Amino acid sequence: MSEEKKNAPSNFIKNMIEEHNRTNRFGGLVHTRFPPEPNGYLHIGHAKSICLNYGLAKEYRGKFNLRFDDTNPTKEDQEYVDSIIDDLNWLGVDWEDRLFFASDYFDQLYEYAVTLIEKGKAFVCDLTADEIRRYRGTLTESGKNSPYRDRFVEENLDLFDRMKKGEFPDGSKTLRAKINMAHGNINMRDPVLYRILHVPHHRTGDTWCIYPMYDMAHGQSDSIEGITHSICTLEFEDHRPLYEWLCKNIGIYCPRQIEFARLNLPYVVMSKRKLVRLVKEGFVRDWDDPRMPTLKAFRRRGYTPEAIWDFNERIGVAKVKGMADWKLLEHCLREDLNRRATRVMAVMRPLKLVIENYPEGQVEELDAVNNPEDDSAGTRKISFSRVLYIERDDFREDPPKKFYRLAPGRETRLKHAYYITCKEVIKDEKGEIIELRCTYDPKTRGGWSDDGRKVKGTLHWVSARTAIPAEIRLYGHLFTQSDSEKGLKEEEDFTANLNPNSLETLHGYVEPSLKDAEVGDRLQFLRQGYFCVDPDSSSERLVFNRTVSLRDSWARIMKKKKK
Ligand code: ATP
Ligand code: MG
Repeated sequence: MSEEKKNAPSNFIKNMIEEHNRTNRFGGLVHTRFPPEPNGYLHIGHAKSICLNYGLAKEYRGKFNLRFDDTNPTKEDQEYVDSIIDDLNWLGVDWEDRLFFASDYFDQLYEYAVTLIEKGKAFVCDLTADEIRRYRGTLTESGKNSPYRDRFVEENLDLFDRMKKGEFPDGSKTLRAKINMAHGNINMRDPVLYRILHVPHHRTGDTWCIYPMYDMAHGQSDSIEGITHSICTLEFEDHRPLYEWLCKNIGIYCPRQIEFARLNLPYVVMSKRKLVRLVKEGFVRDWDDPRMPTLKAFRRRGYTPEAIWDFNERIGVAKVKGMADWKLLEHCLREDLNRRATRVMAVMRPLKLVIENYPEGQVEELDAVNNPEDDSAGTRKISFSRVLYIERDDFREDPPKKFYRLAPGRETRLKHAYYITCKEVIKDEKGEIIELRCTYDPKTRGGWSDDGRKVKGTLHWVSARTAIPAEIRLYGHLFTQSDSEKGLKEEEDFTANLNPNSLETLHGYVEPSLKDAEVGDRLQFLRQGYFCVDPDSSSERLVFNRTVSLRDSWARIMKKKKK
């Protein structure tokens, strides 16, 4: 376990829960929920909310609900419901038998609205959306009462009933809370509770043509489910007075809403609106393009749920907006993959190497360790022969200082195999190196010399006879700027900052032990990073995604800090 984790500090939410437990506010219970709107795919920011809500429920031996906040039928779809459930399962979240939909409560919510009308706390308003906006006032100016605000209860009940029956067109009427148009908090200025939408719903079909707004559905659903701590992101802080006003005036149990800062990561976008554009306009292949911040994309790229959990535990929760660090996320990922990934050899940019003194046609089976971190992973055989591929970058004709790999006349080690010495460089007519001629020392089998002779470099390689061709995809950040909007000219939008080099496709070779590799298998390509088998693979063609490189700059930063 890491240092940071061992000392995982308490946070303001846990402090609040403990205070509630001390004062017995919720009878010692902790019941949280994750309330996604099924209008898009989950991203790493949602994972933060999931880990937080589910983590608290587990820690305090409480309960966790999954509830779809499906009150806007124009944008929602069963496809999103399915994908969200799939992602939660992948993260290992268990809501037992508590899968709910806000749409399950439409009848109940309607009754709540009727209660508010009966109490003189809500009215039917005929102002248009534009007019409502104009009447609302600003942060510095109070709003104006709607001319419909003083309708009698009977008239309101009748109109609301007829709204429900479909007598009025979209936008012609709303149901509004009757609070205070001069309230310092704009959310309290007679907010809209219900709107007319003649749109079928993915679950309730044509039953309804009026739908509750977020504020009229979210807290009420929390209340119905007996949620104790309704955890949401900071932008809802100003909605809390309304959340509490509605529970109080409807006369129902009121959970405690708690706000925290959303997770942001640099060089990527998290807004659903922007993510949709990236997909729809073809800037990425799909929602699961490994460059996207969606959970589907992280999964396809080879991230593990354990790494995402670890990351979320380490970043903790805050009340102030901030930016998380990719380096930490990748550090968590490397720690996990280091434990579980089988080591193999793969050459991404191949350069042919012929061992002149190795007998033509001879093949040797050498032993290779599968995972030095895990003895139970065992060993495997790798075949060695006269013609090999090494990494193009591992050879320099004119090596600079500190370049310890292969160069003319130099001896170096081939991992698990032999010492070789470069004798000759062969070029094509354009002067490009196409082949290296080398000799090997048969007395160095396994990659060790018994006369004490040392070499500085160790190279990975594959045997040309048996290697399997593979497509290897390397990824960079999706944007060139930490903030997708940074430095744009007025007429440009965020897509102008897309990184044109975020995907590099290479054609290399992998060792034959990968012939039966399955989609999703995670491997370490020695010296190159962690990779996983992409679903684009077929029996004819292996495709790998680089999950993450090996260089751990986070670990280096932490080491420096300790010194
Ligand atoms: P929308 O813009 O459509 O409202 P959303 O990202 O808020 O998008 P929801 O489906 O409403 O989407 O989010 C579900 C839950 O996830 C909410 O409780 C929300 O507060 C939380 N959430 C969303 N984005 C983040 C984020 N970046 N960090 C932490 N929590 C988030
Ligand atoms: Mg939302």
